Amino acid sequence: MLDYGNIKSSKDIEVPPLLIDQVIGHEESIETIKKAAKQRRNILLIGDPGVGKSMLAKGMAQILPHESLEDILIYPNVEDNNHPLIRSVPAGEGKKIVKATKGSAKNHEEKKTLITTFIIAAIVVIGFMYGRVLEAIIAAALILLISIQIKPKNNNMSPKLLVNNEDKRFAPFMDATGAHAGALLGDVRHDPYQSGGLGTPAHERVESGMIHKANKGVLYIDEIGTMTMKTQQELLSAMQEKKYAITGQSENSSGAMVRSQAVPCDFVLVASGNLQVLEGMHIAMRSRIRGYGYEVFMKDSMEDTPENRKKLVRFVAQEVKNDGRIPHFAPDALDEIILEAKRRSGKQDALTLKLRDLGGLVRSSGDVAIEKGADLVTAEHVIEAKKFSRTLEQQIADRSIKQRKEYSMVHPEGGRVGLVNGLAVIGDRSGIVSPIAAEAAPSQSKEGGRIIATGKLGEIANESVQNVSALIKKYTNKDVSDYDIHVQFIQTYDGVEGDSASVSIATAVISAVEDIPIDQTVALTGSLNVRGDVMPIGGATAKIEAAAEAGIKKVLIPKSNMKDVMLEKKYEDMIEIVPTETLSDVLENILISGSKKDHLIEKMKNLSSKVVGKVSNS
Ligand code: ADP
Repeated sequence: MLDYGNIKSSKDIEVPPLLIDQVIGHEESIETIKKAAKQRRNILLIGDPGVGKSMLAKGMAQILPHESLEDILIYPNVEDNNHPLIRSVPAGEGKKIVKATKGSAKNHEEKKTLITTFIIAAIVVIGFMYGRVLEAIIAAALILLISIQIKPKNNNMSPKLLVNNEDKRFAPFMDATGAHAGALLGDVRHDPYQSGGLGTPAHERVESGMIHKANKGVLYIDEIGTMTMKTQQELLSAMQEKKYAITGQSENSSGAMVRSQAVPCDFVLVASGNLQVLEGMHIAMRSRIRGYGYEVFMKDSMEDTPENRKKLVRFVAQEVKNDGRIPHFAPDALDEIILEAKRRSGKQDALTLKLRDLGGLVRSSGDVAIEKGADLVTAEHVIEAKKFSRTLEQQIADRSIKQRKEYSMVHPEGGRVGLVNGLAVIGDRSGIVSPIAAEAAPSQSKEGGRIIATGKLGEIANESVQNVSALIKKYTNKDVSDYDIHVQFIQTYDGVEGDSASVSIATAVISAVEDIPIDQTVALTGSLNVRGDVMPIGGATAKIEAAAEAGIKKVLIPKSNMKDVMLEKKYEDMIEIVPTETLSDVLENILISGSKKDHLIEKMKNLSSKVVGKVSNS
C-alpha cells in the first residue's frame, strides 16, 4: 500500500501541462530529448510497443523553439507553367496574402462590370438620341460579349497556401507512420483536361507532403524499416537538403510533368521501432541519425520504488484526464493498478512501463465503475476489469484451456511414461500448459539413432535433446544415439516461446528411455544447460497460473525465478511451487516413485557428490 497522505483520489494529483513531463519512467531518454530539441537533432527511439515512443516525439515538438514557424505559398510560373514557384513567409502571413490577392481579383471584376455597364448605357442612350436604336443594340451586345471574354489576369495568379502554421502554439508534429510516398513527400494531382488548357492550373494541383508540413517541427515515423528503400532514400535527401521539390508520384499521371521549386522541409526526424526495425533501415539513414543526433534505448520496466509508484499514480490521473469520460481512482484502486504493473513486469522488484496496455486497464476499470454507477473507481472495479481487458492471446489461452479440459488433453492425474506437462507463454503474458510426449525405440539403423521432432518446435526439441544427450548418458548409462527418439509437442500454437521447454523435453526423454512414469499432477518449466543446471525462464507467474487453471497440483520452476512469482490471490492455495536447481531436482520431484526411480536418483546423487567432492578437494 502506498502512503497517499491526504490524497483522496487521483483527482487530487496534478498533471503537468507539457506532454514531455507526463512521460513516466524514461528520465534519461527525456534528458536526451530535451537536449536534442534545443539543438534540433534527429532521434532514433528503440523500444517495445506502447512504452511511450510517440508520446516522447510529440512532447519534443512542444519544446522545439517555435518563433521561427513559417507558412509556405505556391505561385504559378508564367514562364514555365509546370514549374510553380515557392515562397515562405512568417506564420500567419500566408492566409492574409491569399485573401488579399483573391480580394484584388474580386475588385477587378467589380470594376470591369461597372465600366461595361456604363459604356453600354451610354451607347444605348446615344443610339436613342440619334434614332439609331438597332445599331446601338448591336454595339452594346458586342461590348458585352467582349467584356465576358476578358478574364482578369489575376484570377489565375493568386497563390495557394501549401503549409499553414497560423495560430500554432507549438511547432508542428507530423506522424508519418505507414504513410505512402505521396503523403510523405508531396504530390501533384492528375489533371484529365491538362492538354486543352481548360483544367486546373499546375500550382493549384500541388499538394504538400508531411515532410513539408513538419517544417521547423517534428516528423515522426514508427517502424521506419518497413518503408521502401526508395522512399527512405528520398527522405534522406530531404533531410540533407532541408528542402524538397514536389512532383507527381505516379509516373503516368499528368502530375509527373509538374515539378515545383524546392519547398522547405527543415524538420527533426524522430524514428522509432523495436530492435528488428534497424534491419530494414537504410544504412545511410541510420548513420545520418547517429552523426547528427541521438540513439535512445527505452526500457520496458522501472524499479519498484515508492517514488516510481507515485509516478504510476500520476499516470492513472493523466489517463483519466485524457479520457475525459471515466471517474477518478480511489487509493485502493490505485494500489490494484500498481500491483498489476508489478505483475506485468514479470520481475519481483520492477513495475512495467508498457503503459499503453496498462492505460487500457485504467479505461476498462473506469467503464466498470460507470456501469455500476460509482463516482470513484475502486479496487473491485479494477479486478473485474481485468477479466474483460484480456488480450487476444489471453483469450486464446482461455479458450484452449477450456477446450483442453473438455477434450481432456491435459490429464492432471496418475502417471504416464514419456508424457510431461510443459509450460509455455503465448503472446505477451499468457501462460499455457503444453504437453510434450517422447517415445524411445532402439534404433535399427547402422548410423545410429535419430531425433525425430514433430510440431513447430522441432528445432528447439532437436537442440534440447542434443544438449542433454551427455546428461542422459551420464544419468542412465544409455546412449541416446542407440535410440530413435520421437518428441512431439501435443498441440502447438503460433507465438509459443520455446527455449523454456528444454527441461520438459529432457524429462520426457529420460522417462521414455528408462521407462519410468511421470507424475501427471505436476507441470514444469525451465531451461537446461549442458551441465544439467536449471536456468531461469520468462513468464513464471503466467505459467504457474495456467497450470493451476488446468488442475495441476504442483509446479517445478527454476529456483532463480522464485522471486518473479506474483500469483493472483485466487491461485495461491491452488498449487504448490517447488524450486529446482538441477535436472536431478526435477526428476526427483516429477518421476513416480518405484525401484527404477530410486535407482536412477541414487546414481545421479552419486554422480553429483563425486563432482562436488572433486571441487572441494582441489
Ligand atoms: P509507443 O509509441 O511506444 O508505441 P505511445 O507513445 O503511442 O507508445 O503510447 C501510447 C499511450 O500510452 C500514450 O499516449 C500514453 O497515454 C500511454 N503511455 C505509454 N508510455 C507512457 C509513459 N512512459 N508515460 C506515460 N504514459 C505513457
